[in-house]
Amino acid sequence: MSDSLQSTDEQAEQPPETPLDTARYQLDKAASLIEVDENIIERLSHPTSVHEVTVPLKRDDGTVDVFSGYRAQHDSVRGPYKGGLRYHPHVDREEVIGLSMWMTWKCAVVDLPFGGAKGGINVDPKALSDGEIERLTRRFTNELRNVIGPQTDIPAPDMGTNAQTMAWIMDTYSIQEAETAPAVVTGKPIAVGGSEGRQEAPGRSVAIISRELLEYYDRPLSETTVAVQGFGSVGANAARLLEEWGATVVAVSDVNGAAYDLTGLDTSGIPSHDQEPEAVTEYAEDTISNAALLELDVDLLVPAALGNVITEGNADDIRADFVVEGANGPTTFTADSILTDRGIHVVPDILANAGGVTVSYFEWVQDINHRTWSLDRVNEELEAVMIDAWDAVRREVENRGVTWREAAYIVGVSRIAAAHESRGLWP
Ligand code: NAD
Repeated sequence: MSDSLQSTDEQAEQPPETPLDTARYQLDKAASLIEVDENIIERLSHPTSVHEVTVPLKRDDGTVDVFSGYRAQHDSVRGPYKGGLRYHPHVDREEVIGLSMWMTWKCAVVDLPFGGAKGGINVDPKALSDGEIERLTRRFTNELRNVIGPQTDIPAPDMGTNAQTMAWIMDTYSIQEAETAPAVVTGKPIAVGGSEGRQEAPGRSVAIISRELLEYYDRPLSETTVAVQGFGSVGANAARLLEEWGATVVAVSDVNGAAYDLTGLDTSGIPSHDQEPEAVTEYAEDTISNAALLELDVDLLVPAALGNVITEGNADDIRADFVVEGANGPTTFTADSILTDRGIHVVPDILANAGGVTVSYFEWVQDINHRTWSLDRVNEELEAVMIDAWDAVRREVENRGVTWREAAYIVGVSRIAAAHESRGLWP
């Protein structure tokens, strides 16, 4: 276990919140701030369905292991279910339900015509060969054949899965349907209908929202210092864009620790997780721990690695003026209220990293229309979606005097509730 994980766990005085705790807490919080039919909130507290399947795998040595797979579909009032598939030993029914609810809120904040889903297999993919992962994925796809589909439920990569996993799902589903069906998953390789700009999208949206937030508070990017925890798809892309736009990135980290330079790092010279996994500290002159990175006296802190890293144990020591959540759920609710009381502005994950699902939506639109968009077009459309979402959330902050997190949930839950109101409950 990494130093940062140990210290975070030691600091936490309560067990970490689960995604389901967070999803229900945020739903109730948003409901308490807006006029909304309580029967709709009751419906939104539960998933529409949770599919649990058994996935047998013939191992390379000929023995058979059996794994549990899940797909939770939370709400589809605004469009097909959308959300990732993760392969991780912690995956269980409750986790996927909670994460499917987060996806419903996230898609609504950026106004995509999708609902929320999440799934996965309770497995450690690092313990499997590539051939075993492919067989496991194809069998899992078969078990979900009647659950997923381009107009019903569209998976994407998540922890432990990647573009290759999506290609295997697309291939298996297409063979079974006797037609090429790229729109059944997003986050695919470009060769089979993936989109330009998908990989960079969550980091790009984190950078866009950070830029808007700083501008809102009259803090020019050229005078802003930034620390980013995690240097993967989200963290590296956010850090590099913020540096390109004039910010001084003083620290970036991976699981081994952080590269630190008070005068500003050259983030393009440090390999991202994709380019060379876990090598950040090898390219650094000075290093600090992940725990120290979170407590740096910077203007902007972007936690973009793991959930539950800002807790009751370290919230009093956070010195950034702004926190933009790149990871999903990096701040516990207790920590969130400590940061709010201390005047630190926190922009939540469901707005900041929603660029990922937004470009997934663009990928799906391209696939169903048999068209491809240029990278410039993807980035222009992403900018437009993120600015619209930012404006909607900002209006709630200004009109209701709520936090950025509360405002984002108000926007999301109001849109979902309005759709339920219009469609009604059948029969
Ligand atoms: P990634 O695998 O590309 O990179 C993760 C990075 O975090 C790596 O640099 C890794 O070394 C680092 N890390 C891992 N454990 C750490 C620890 N204990 N301390 C510090 N750093 C650690 O992952 P990603 O796709 O960038 O995802 C990061 C977070 O963003 C996750 O919470 C993910 O759920 C969320 N997210 C990802 C996407 C997406 O499309 N990639 C979209 C939305 C949200």
